[in-house]
Amino acid sequence: MATDFSLFDLSGKRALVTGSGRGIGFALARGLAAAGAEIILNDIEESRVATAAEELRGAGHRTGYSVFDVTAHQDAADAVARVEETVGPIDILVNNAGIQRRAPLEEFKPEDWDAILKVNLSSVFHVSQAVARHMIPRGRGKIINICSVQSMLARPTIAPYAATKGAVAMFTKAQCTDWAKHGLQVNGIAPGYFATEMNKALVENDEFSSWLCRRTPAGRWGKVEELVGAAVFLSSAAADFVNGQVLYVDGGLTSCV
Ligand code: NAP
Repeated sequence: MATDFSLFDLSGKRALVTGSGRGIGFALARGLAAAGAEIILNDIEESRVATAAEELRGAGHRTGYSVFDVTAHQDAADAVARVEETVGPIDILVNNAGIQRRAPLEEFKPEDWDAILKVNLSSVFHVSQAVARHMIPRGRGKIINICSVQSMLARPTIAPYAATKGAVAMFTKAQCTDWAKHGLQVNGIAPGYFATEMNKALVENDEFSSWLCRRTPAGRWGKVEELVGAAVFLSSAAADFVNGQVLYVDGGLTSCV
């Protein structure tokens, strides 16, 4: 029986990826573009996102960008409205922007707790609501929330991060519960450990790196491009009845103790 790969084709779709000036967000943007989607990159820093957009355009992908802070409710709503009016409908939203701060919990600064909650959790509310308000009248749309293995497992010194990623996994189910009836699919991708700027301290720590490789059944760090398949699938018609799920892309890390 022939397999219909057009189910995974994103031609004619437009995807907004938050925090996509670098790292996982940029890799996902490049992957969605390769599957046919037009990309709207986002970051707080214009120079970074402009350079990233140039790189995608250079590879022949239709790419624009929108500079806004995902923690600012009205700025996000205004930016989304501008994209919808001047570029066109957003079919796919990837809530990727995130930050990490590390300290023993008893020493964690309240301002760092607040910053992590704002960027990792509240932003998913702000940007999703802004985009969903445009998707709902159209009766279709895909939202992907970037979770983490810390949606399921804790580690010392990153308690606030784990709290937010657990919450994003639950918020994914909640968004599905409210919006599935409007034709939206909301799912999560939970990456294991990937060598990005966020994890620079861990990548440079030989002790951590060898612990991680022993701890992960696949025996290695992930490569950011290994997250693309999950993102294309969850953005595509192939996942039209997949809703409220979190797909772990972690080399088996959450499958063993
Ligand atoms: P990264 O390299 O630090 O990239 C994150 C991007 O988000 C940066 O470009 C950052 O810009 C941007 N950003 C931060 N705050 C923002 C805001 N308020 N508004 C708009 N953009 C903002 O991190 P990453 O490793 O690619 O992580 C991406 C996502 O994957 C995060 O949600 C993270 O929690 C998740 N994740 C990562 C891993 C991993 O192993 N790397 C594992 C599991 C989950 P600035 O630098 O200018 O702030």
